[in-house]
Amino acid sequence: MSSSSSSAGGKPLRCPICRKEAVDAYRPFCSKRCADIDLAKWFSGSYAVAGREEDEGDSAASADSGRRPDGDDDDA
Ligand SMILES: [Zn+2]
Repeated sequence: MSSSSSSAGGKPLRCPICRKEAVDAYRPFCSKRCADIDLAKWFSGSYAVAGREEDEGDSAASADSGRRPDGDDDDA
């Protein structure tokens, strides 16, 4: 016995980005580059969702603000 490799089984992990064989250092990715790409995806995804939610709330508040409950000044 010289070096101990993966003990889980004989199934090599595949990089979810480019489908190459993953390396231990960057599991489950094959390289730092693919790990960075995945990280960027996560960041952009969460930012997009947060932005959308904020926009929706802003729109509803704006519509509500347009109404004027006490507009009887003109009536009298
Ligand atoms: Zn990769």
